[in-house]
Amino acid sequence: IVLTHWVPLTETGALQGVVVVFHDISDIRRLENMRKDFVANVSHELRTPIAIIRGYAETLTSGGPVTPEQSARFLSIILAHSERLASLVGDLLTLSQLESGSISLDLKKVQLGDLAAQVVSLLEQKSQAKGIAVTADLLHNAPPVLADPARVEQVLVNLLDNAIKYTTPGGDVTVSYAVEANLVRVGVHDTGIGIPSRDLPRIFERFYRADSGRSRDEGGTGLGLSIVKHLVQMQGGSVSVESSSRGSSFFFTLKRALGNEQWP
Ligand code: ADP
Repeated sequence: IVLTHWVPLTETGALQGVVVVFHDISDIRRLENMRKDFVANVSHELRTPIAIIRGYAETLTSGGPVTPEQSARFLSIILAHSERLASLVGDLLTLSQLESGSISLDLKKVQLGDLAAQVVSLLEQKSQAKGIAVTADLLHNAPPVLADPARVEQVLVNLLDNAIKYTTPGGDVTVSYAVEANLVRVGVHDTGIGIPSRDLPRIFERFYRADSGRSRDEGGTGLGLSIVKHLVQMQGGSVSVESSSRGSSFFFTLKRALGNEQWP
């Protein structure tokens, strides 16, 4: 708390009192600290894959003895880390577009099953490496929604990527849905480390990362969920989360495509 103004009250010539204005700057400080953490995290997040890519590329070009198996492995590591870099830069770009309000939507009739299957195969390498089974087959029965497929894909990538990241090897990740009036509610469930209840109300805030040693160990920027929330809200939906020590469930809603929409 800081003292920003003080004004003596001297209407009759004599000092009658003093108006003192204090400002509670804890919110500003908190945001400032989160931003500082964010810049440090982003720099670290960018540096790590770059160092790995450079290291393996140098080994491959140094002319030293490398077996064909080793070279294939090094190249796939390089590929995986360039993909990580691309997604990080993508998140940063999306965030800045969201902040400047320059994102436009391309609403279409979307089959969630096909989209989810695509995302599951995109993350297959990662889930298999951790021995995590990802199941999204249920979504093939979901009614079509009115949404922007690229944006829904981004939402699913973020939620599934988190579910895999914050679940210990051998766990399960499942995508489900429920129809509620004119909405479809999609759920991404994991059997992971869970989120402490004190962190839950703030988990969708920009830069916010749950204060758990285990999630700190995982790379991340705290951007994913705030992007998810923005993208879902832009499409007329909402997000929510439930979590216990046995795992977490993230939910988002989308509007059903009812067949009477006006197509642009
Ligand atoms: P990041 O994963 O880059 O830190 P996110 O915005 O995607 O950022 O997530 C914010 C925080 O929420 C994470 O740091 C983590 O602490 C927590 N979190 C998100 N998803 C999960 C999950 N499925 N299980 C446990 N914790 C999660």
